Formats: sequence, C-alpha cells, structure tokens
Amino acid sequence: MTEKNYNGVLIFAEQKNNIIHKVSYELLGKGSELSRKIGCSLSAVILGPEEIEAQELIYRGADKVYHIVDTTVFNKPDELIYTENIVSLIKNIKPEICLFGATAFGRSLAPRVAALLETGLTADCTDLKIDDDMKLIQIRPAFSENILAHIKSDIYPQMATVRYKEFEEKKRDTDKIGEIIKIPTVKTSNDLIEVLEEISNNSVNVQDAKVVVAAGASVKSAEDLNMIKELAVMLGGEVGASRALVETGIISKDHQVGYSGNRIKPTVYIACGISGAPQHLAGMKESGVIIAINNDPSAPIFNVADYSIVGDMYKIIPEIISAIRNNNLTI
Ligand code: FAD
Repeated sequence: MTEKNYNGVLIFAEQKNNIIHKVSYELLGKGSELSRKIGCSLSAVILGPEEIEAQELIYRGADKVYHIVDTTVFNKPDELIYTENIVSLIKNIKPEICLFGATAFGRSLAPRVAALLETGLTADCTDLKIDDDMKLIQIRPAFSENILAHIKSDIYPQMATVRYKEFEEKKRDTDKIGEIIKIPTVKTSNDLIEVLEEISNNSVNVQDAKVVVAAGASVKSAEDLNMIKELAVMLGGEVGASRALVETGIISKDHQVGYSGNRIKPTVYIACGISGAPQHLAGMKESGVIIAINNDPSAPIFNVADYSIVGDMYKIIPEIISAIRNNNLTI
C-alpha cells in the first residue's frame, strides 16, 4: 500500500511468562519521539493472558494498548499464531510505523508479519528518524559497520526491528492516561508446526549483566575458559565472548558480544585477550568502565579502554582472582 491512509506508531511489546521484555520500553521511548514529530498517537500491542500488566505500557508512554487476550496460546513462542493475530490488528488499525525489538523472537516474528502485509522491513536498526516528508528513516550499519545505511520505504506500514539496549527506556509516568483495548484472538492454532517445548539457556544473560568478563581467541581450550568463568562469578557477572572464540566451539553463541551478537552496556566490561575489532566494539563500547587485558600494546581494544593492562592474561587473571579472594574485594 503506498498511499498515506495509515496513521500512528505501533510497537510490539514482547512478554514471556507475563513479564514484559525491557526492549518494549525502549521502543516506547523511541516511538514517543517519532509520534511527537509526526503528530500522531503511539500504541502498543501485547499478546497474552488477562493478568499481563498492560497498564505498564501506558505508564511507559503508550496512548493505547491493544491487548490480544488468550489464557494459554501465547505462552509458547509460536510465531505463526502471533503473526496472524498481529497482522489482523495491523490491517484494522493501519499504523504508519511498526516497531519490533530485535530479540530472538522479534527477529523471527517481524519478517513474517512484514511478508503477510507485503511491506518491507529493516532489521537491527541503530537509529530511527522522521524526515521532512514525515517518512521513517531507518538507520543501520552496513558493510561490517563501515557505513550507516539510511533506508526509507514507500510502502506502508514502515517496519523496523531495533536492537535491545540501543535506545533509552521510556521513563515510568504513573500520571499518564491511556486506553487498554482488549481484543479476542483471531487464530489460536496452526496446521503447519506445533511448538512442543521451549528450550532455552536461561543461565546466560549477558545483556542484563552489570559485569561482563569476556574472553577472546586467546583462550585455547574449555579448561582455559575456567579462569574467566571464575572471575565472572566472583564479580557477580556473566561470561562474554568474541565471535572468534564462539567459532572455536569453546563457548556458545549466547555469550557473543558484538555486531552479530549481543549489544551490551554493563557497568564493568573486562576484555581478556580480545583484539578490539570494530564488530566487537559495536557490542560493548557503551559499557561504563572498560578494562582490557592484552599482550599486544597496540591492540585496538586499548583505544576504548579506561584501564589498560598489557601482559599475558594467563598470568594476570589468576593474579586478579587471588587479589580479590585474599582481600575480600567486590565491585
Ligand atoms: P583476535 O582478533 O585473534 O585477537 C586475539 C587477541 O588476543 C589479540 O589482540 C592478541 O594480542 C591477544 N592475546 C593472545 N594471547 C594473549 C594472552 N596470552 N594474553 C593476553 N592477550 C592475548 N566479532 C565479535 O567479537 N563479535 C561480533 O558480533 C562480530 N560480528 C562480526 C560480523 C561480521 C559481519 C564480521 C565480518 C565480523 C564479525 N566479528 C565479530 C569478527 C571480528 O571482526 C573479529 O574477527 C573478532 O572480534 C576477533 O576476535 P578476538 O579479538 O577474540 O580475536
């Protein structure tokens, strides 16, 4: 659809076990800015049982919340059922902009919604703007982060996914007034696939960790990784990794930090034997305090580090561990 009979900004609010994913509040933050610029309303769609705190989405900036209600069906991450219900809503309310979080689920859902609506989708945007024609400019890195592509669509709705931790969360305002519209499901089963069980590694949560101790290709075996794990546990943090280490199979991709992994902003990031390639920096350069350990004094990671330790991590990390243990230090 190219003519402008579409109006408003809609964000998809992801939930799991009735807990709203924080990327939804970040989408509402950016969505508020875009809707103010266009002069239109901001809505959210959430799918799940009655108990979901849809009101929270209003406190976080939504003027309207479309709550597609079903007690059980949205408990499983069944993209096909989610897609049909969201597409039906979008066809009804015709938002000019639809935003999804680029979470694992959002990345799988948004292209299906876009395909059914016969519109375009820009994935993993790092910024969104409105131009003088009131069109959405979708900005994302391209060619391994060497350029920032500005993408504009002539087709409505204009759709984009946005990475978690890219935008500020919309602050909570309990005086904000809005409307919650409950909608019955249009589809509760699909004939193509059946989601039997969701298997996820809940123990890895690099994205929300306050401290991340990350290892690079300098780690040669699963046994060598133990000192990184020990340091992370001592500091109450998580283990991160460069893509080069993930590719060796020593650690799973859930730990990967960077352009094609997790984008994170911990309070403290400790890079152990990581060179600091642009694609790695893209995922961690916003961290509060960056500590880098590398035996090459010219390693690019030192350009973004607040504290640089030049030396062999196989000596330095055990020394840090003993110092913390012997002095009962904490972060
Ligand atoms: P290396 O570059 O090999 O660096 C190892 C470092 O360890 C060196 O600096 C070395 O001096 C140091 N070292 C070695 N031994 C020791 C020791 N004993 N003590 C101390 N220091 C030591 N990379 C990511 O990390 N995340 C991504 O999401 C990502 N996405 C990508 C997407 C694309 C499209 C492309 C093209 C690349 C991507 N990469 C990503 C890969 C990236 O370009 C680098 O290849 C990768 O980050 C290098 O990982 P590394 O620093 O661990 O390894």
